[in-house]
Amino acid sequence: MKISELKTPCYVIDEGKLTENLKILHHVMQRTGAKILLAQKAFSAFCEYPLIGKYLSGTTASGLYEARLAQEEMGKENHVFCPAYLPEEMDELVKICDHIVFNSVSQFLVHKEKIKKAAAGISTGLRINPECSTQEGHEIYDPCGTGSRLGVTRAELDKAIQNGFDLSQIDGFHFHTLCEQNSDALETTLDAVEKKFGDLLYGRKWLNMGGGHHITKAGYDMEKLEDCIRRMQETYDLEIYLEPGEAVALNAGYLETTVLDIVENNGIKILVLDTSAACHMPDVLEMPYRPPLKDSGKAGEKAYTYRLSSCTCLAGDVIGDYSFDKAIKVGDRLTFCDMAIYSMVKNNTFNGMPLPDIAVMGADKECRVIRRFGYEDFKGRLS
Ligand SMILES: *Cc1c(COP(=O)(O)O)cnc(C)c1O
Repeated sequence: MKISELKTPCYVIDEGKLTENLKILHHVMQRTGAKILLAQKAFSAFCEYPLIGKYLSGTTASGLYEARLAQEEMGKENHVFCPAYLPEEMDELVKICDHIVFNSVSQFLVHKEKIKKAAAGISTGLRINPECSTQEGHEIYDPCGTGSRLGVTRAELDKAIQNGFDLSQIDGFHFHTLCEQNSDALETTLDAVEKKFGDLLYGRKWLNMGGGHHITKAGYDMEKLEDCIRRMQETYDLEIYLEPGEAVALNAGYLETTVLDIVENNGIKILVLDTSAACHMPDVLEMPYRPPLKDSGKAGEKAYTYRLSSCTCLAGDVIGDYSFDKAIKVGDRLTFCDMAIYSMVKNNTFNGMPLPDIAVMGADKECRVIRRFGYEDFKGRLS
């Protein structure tokens, strides 16, 4: 089936593009010896886990459900980080994970007996907070801001050590401080990590440098990334992990939609689509950002400008203003790009909106629907 024949709304995963990204990441692994994991919170399309598992070392999870999904569908290295684990979650996690990362010394102490008793050896990690903000604008994505709960600061770790905490129980350190950034931000962060935690890195086995590395984006400075990895390998004799989410499936998906109506208000022409920013691409409103749309320009750039909006009752459910070479008609189809990441994992059925189907586009551009959603998926989460 061609992409234009799919019933809309529909997410389409572009396997050709996904494979290109995976090859880039695999190349970094080969050149540096670092291990790269898929951060499932960005992209959990498990139909692609066998493909992803061919190129990457495994997965990382934000909690039990993602860890289970990884174990069931990929079965490679299975890391987990969560700010706090429930006792019953830890009972499961010790059976399926090989690396468990704690957000605080107190969380480690709560769960350490279970880790010790686990049948398979589990490598323990502690998330550190280097208190080094390298991003502006996106404050909700900055774990280094004052008052952040994410990662122990050096001051808090020192307090715990003074109170008798034995750091030799911790195999690795983990930090995650970047969001859609280039390797210069990683370099700056590593300076802070070394300054604050350098003396403690010597006794560790591994360092996980988190996600937010825009490795597969055009213009990413790969040489600097490799220098950063080697610097930590050589100085501290550490195994290095990276766990990008976004970079794995960047630009590897679309959201196909149909124009249902065209209305006008004070000279503004508005397209009513069968998709929704609030329900199907919540990051557009949350981040916020303007998703790329195929064959379109900025407002006023091409001859015909429209505001793209949705079928929900939320006045602000607007994707943005876009322009086209031709006038748009009811029934026309539009294709949003870069819709694989933070889309399927974040969507919802607010307003009773149907969830988009999920299709896969092969390298030959042929599409097949792999999941169709209906009323039961809406009703099933309610009672
Ligand atoms: C979000 C997150 C990632 C992935 O981040 P991307 O920006 O998608 O690369 C990795 N690790 C942790 C701990 C995260 O919270």
